[in-house]
Amino acid sequence: MLITNARVVTFGERNEIIEDGAVRIEQDKVAHVGTREQLVQDDSAEEVVDAGGQWLMPGNVCAHTHFYGAFARGMAIPGDAPRDFPEILAKLWWRLDKALTAEDVRYSALVCLVDAIKHGTTTLVDHHASPNAIDGSLDVIAEAVVDAGLRASLCYEVTDRDGLERARAGIAENVRFLRRLREETHPLLGASFGLHASLTLSDETLAECVAAAGGLPTGFHIHAAEGIADQEDSQKRSGVRVVERLQRAGILGAKSILAHCVHVDAWEMEILRDTGTWVTHQPRSNMNNAVGMAPVETMLRGGIKIGLGNDGFSNNMWAEWKMAYLAHKLWHGDPRRMGGYDVFRLAVENNAQLAEVFWPGARFGQIAPGAQADLILVDYQPFTALTPGNLPWHVLFGFEASAVTATMVAGKWLMRDRQVLTLDEKAIAARARELSAAVWERYAAQE
Ligand SMILES: [Zn+2]
Repeated sequence: MLITNARVVTFGERNEIIEDGAVRIEQDKVAHVGTREQLVQDDSAEEVVDAGGQWLMPGNVCAHTHFYGAFARGMAIPGDAPRDFPEILAKLWWRLDKALTAEDVRYSALVCLVDAIKHGTTTLVDHHASPNAIDGSLDVIAEAVVDAGLRASLCYEVTDRDGLERARAGIAENVRFLRRLREETHPLLGASFGLHASLTLSDETLAECVAAAGGLPTGFHIHAAEGIADQEDSQKRSGVRVVERLQRAGILGAKSILAHCVHVDAWEMEILRDTGTWVTHQPRSNMNNAVGMAPVETMLRGGIKIGLGNDGFSNNMWAEWKMAYLAHKLWHGDPRRMGGYDVFRLAVENNAQLAEVFWPGARFGQIAPGAQADLILVDYQPFTALTPGNLPWHVLFGFEASAVTATMVAGKWLMRDRQVLTLDEKAIAARARELSAAVWERYAAQE
């Protein structure tokens, strides 16, 4: 397939904008990039797609999300509003996840996947919980991901909060899914070993998880120091801070993700850097939970690998870009904080590198020969100069989610002209409304 008449934003080493550009796609990868003149051949067999002058860009990557949380949209929390992050966990998330059946898990994932396609988010790293439907839950999500045609890395969040039996079921679910992918890799699926957070995991369970993951090609995906309560709990449990506790347990490493790391100190950051552990930043969630802001610029300056996730907020990653850009300025009372290039490093460069952890050997976040053909078309008419140098600011101040008109993953169109092709959005939303009504009832019926 040849896409022509596009303004090609390459990112990557080339980092160019090619006016009147063209991209040839062969199977699931980009084969050639250049001007229309360079690429158009006299080959009537080739499918040619006219982009109509739209921007052709690499798809967005989301470094940390929760498909299972979708049915919380619009749901009332009974009683007094939660006053802090531990109350938000106890009153909202640790009841909602218990109300989910396997079919809820499927539809909760499907509505997120529709949302991701519409917003041009082509790869997502999910962190799943459904304590009353653990066994096989990752297969259910995987099937939805493959139906959607998106890429996702999946894990089940092991926790002690629902007793030993369910903790062990969570371990077994991670191991089963990791083995499934080891035996038969799938181009759209990745996996890691999920853990909820230090504050809901005993030393014994952590040790069981590390032992169970032994021999599997995986790291861990865990929330760390999201709220101050995680640090207080870790000090009480083990006498050390969260990152040190996780390091002692054997959780850190170049394949592991620590989501948030809002409350980490200098020594913990040094450990994160030295172990090559990934951190993810989710400013919309941090603001919503009022937990504070991670020292993102310090981490970038020091060489910590940090990406941008959405923590279950909308899969419009440009909204997360904007919040990252604005939130640090307000938090520090300094308009010089968190410039556009820093946001770009998180959202484009680092997220692409993180995706490569789950799809080794594949290249993301750039339009270059050999890179994955995970692409989006963006209908945007800049009324000032748009260059590779100022593109982050056009995204931050100009791009809207509605500008995405087409989404492609692995060379296959998932949306064209704003029509989702792989999933039936209306039917999925209708069934999700039925299922979510029952989830809300089960949620409210819990003590
Ligand atoms: Zn999260």
